[in-house]
Parts: sequence; C-alpha cells; structure tokens
Amino acid sequence: MSINVSLTNSMPELVAIRRDLHAHPELGLEEHRTSDIVASYLEKLGYKVHRGLARTGVVATLSSGTSGRAIGIRADMDALPILEETGAEYASKTPGLMHACGHDGHTTMLLGAARAIAERRNFDGTVHLIFQPAEENFGGAKIMMDEGLFQKFPCDAVFALHNDPGLPFGKFALREGPIMAAVDECRITVNGRGGHGAEPQDTADPIVCGASIVMALQSIVARNIHPMDPSVVTVGAFHAGAASNVIPERAEIVVGIRSFDPRVRDELERRITMIAKSQAESFGMTATVNYNRSYDATINHKVETDFVRDLAVKFAGASNVVDLERASMGSEDFGYMLTECPGTYFFLGTSVTGDEKTFHHPGFDFNDDLIPVGAAFWTELVEAYLARS
Ligand SMILES: [Zn+2]
Ligand SMILES: [Zn+2]
Repeated sequence: MSINVSLTNSMPELVAIRRDLHAHPELGLEEHRTSDIVASYLEKLGYKVHRGLARTGVVATLSSGTSGRAIGIRADMDALPILEETGAEYASKTPGLMHACGHDGHTTMLLGAARAIAERRNFDGTVHLIFQPAEENFGGAKIMMDEGLFQKFPCDAVFALHNDPGLPFGKFALREGPIMAAVDECRITVNGRGGHGAEPQDTADPIVCGASIVMALQSIVARNIHPMDPSVVTVGAFHAGAASNVIPERAEIVVGIRSFDPRVRDELERRITMIAKSQAESFGMTATVNYNRSYDATINHKVETDFVRDLAVKFAGASNVVDLERASMGSEDFGYMLTECPGTYFFLGTSVTGDEKTFHHPGFDFNDDLIPVGAAFWTELVEAYLARS
C-alpha cells in the first residue's frame, strides 16, 4: 500500500481532527460545528467552499489544468442517538449522542485526501468534495440534490466508501449493480374497542387482531415475492396494552421493509396494506396504515465499479480486493446520488482483531489507522480519474 509523504506528515493532525469530531457528535442536519471545522480546513487549503446545501452540507471545489472533466467524492458527517460506551478518552461529550458508524472517520479521510490533492496538484480537471449531513435518517444526500447539488457542481462520476469492521483491515469490498437495499417503514394502527379483560365479548381486542396481522405479514416474502428477489419484512415493534385485566383500545405495529427491485417494493407495500386492513376487517375492526418510503436502493454503475476495482488492485494487491457475492440488506442514501450521476459505493475493511464492535453499537469506534489508507486511496482515485494526458 503506497501512502504518499504529505499524508504521512499530516497524520497527527488528522487523528486529532477525527478524535475531536468523535468527542463532539451532531445529529443529522444539525452538524453545525462539524460543518464549520470542515469548511475552514478546506478554505485554508485553497478550495472554493460552498456551504448551506441541506443546511450543513459543504462542497469544496478545486480545479487544475484545462480539462472540463469533474469528479465528486462524498463523505457523511452525522452521528447517532446512542449513549457511548467505548470508554475512549475522546468519547462523546454529549450524553446520548455518538459517532457509532464511523462518519467521523469518513469526514477525516476526505479532509486528508483534500490536503494531499491540493498539495500535489497532480490532476487535470475539477474535484468536488461533498460533505453531506444526515445520512442516518433524513437523507441528506437527497436534500442536497433537491437543492441543486449536481446542477451547481456537475460531476462525471461520484464515489463514496464506508468503513467496515466486519472486513479485514485494508480490504476493499465492492459490487457492480445492487449493493444496498431500499428501506421503507410502515406503521399499522389496529383500532379496537377497549374494555374489561374479564368481558371480552363486549370489546374488540386489538391485541389478538394485531397478533394475527403479525403472523400474516410473514407470508408475504414467503408466498408473494419471487424467491430470487431479496426482500425483508420485519415487525420491529408491537405496542399495546398495560395490564392483564384491560383490553386496550388500540395496538400499533411498526414494520421495516427492505427490497431492491421497484416492482417488488410496490408489491410489498400493496400486500402489507391489504393484509393489515383485511385482517382487521375480519375481526370487526379497522386498521390505519401509514406506509413511508425511505431510501432507494444503492445500485452501483459498472464502469465506475471496474475503475475502483482496478485501482484498488494496484493500491492494495488483488488479495485485498473482493467482489461481494451478495448485496447488503442495509441501506444508504448515497443511492440517490447514483440515480443522477454514475458512480460506485464500496466498503473498506477496518478489522484487526476480528471481534470489533459492529456499526451502531455503543462500543463502536472508528479505527484511526484507516485514515491514511482511505485518504491515500481517495487521492489516487482523483489523480487516476483526472489523469493528465
Ligand atoms: Zn450507520
Ligand atoms: Zn454509516
């Protein structure tokens, strides 16, 4: 693995930035402090810095030479509502908020690349470094796009990576086509008629009806969706009742739905709605169904995935580059960017011991040793994509 000199020199500074971001996590669309740090670092390096897309988004632009070609690289900046349990000296100073997905590391790696790219000036064209808010919940990528990201900063291709504690350190995992699933959430309210638990004949019990809905939902993936089309229907919450002698008035069921194919997504919505309403009706009740579509699937483009694979093989050796056999059923709002601009999303391994905490765990911490690797790879990616002819 070749780490250029300017990156090696800036490592202490980058680790300090990463730990400072870690100590001061901010939720989606509230990354004001993070955004200030990112913007001022990039301004000092000579980037033209644009702020305000999706509130806290930062886009830093640098041009060199005469080519009209442009590349975008995206990092996410937001943290999660989790009470940190890492015990690190730089642990979150805000109880109940933490960087449990490594977005502090993604931001820092791209800042490191920004420095090396600016110092080396070894490219011909334009680089747009996109620091986005709210990957975890509000779809910051989509908001930036709705506010004109790719009109203001046109890119020929856009790239993003995610650290992965489930992969050996320095290993690249990529995939042409689908890599992350679309995600939806559905809230079903079963409207019953409450009363005394000893007199069920005078009530309409939403718990019994809700339990029947939960079981019937299990038939959708098993019986309605093609076995070769990946999809998940998970009942993640069931709220009803408080005492053994009371039949409650209503029950609420919260369902998480994952899919890739838009037709499958439509079918899942149709079947969930039909099952909830029809089951409720069969019990003499009604169900209110609130179905919300969230992130689209992340579908990688072939040319850009091939480009990253070739570069990763040169950078880390063929044994450190894998094509993922399966897509993840997790989700990612970078998928929106790939619907407007060609590009690819990939994983970079961080695991050393094999028992690192996984994403969104209170003990998760980004591995700082990955900073020079990610920063060096982004630098090489820019220099290869915008190679001087
Ligand atoms: Zn996450
Ligand atoms: Zn993440």
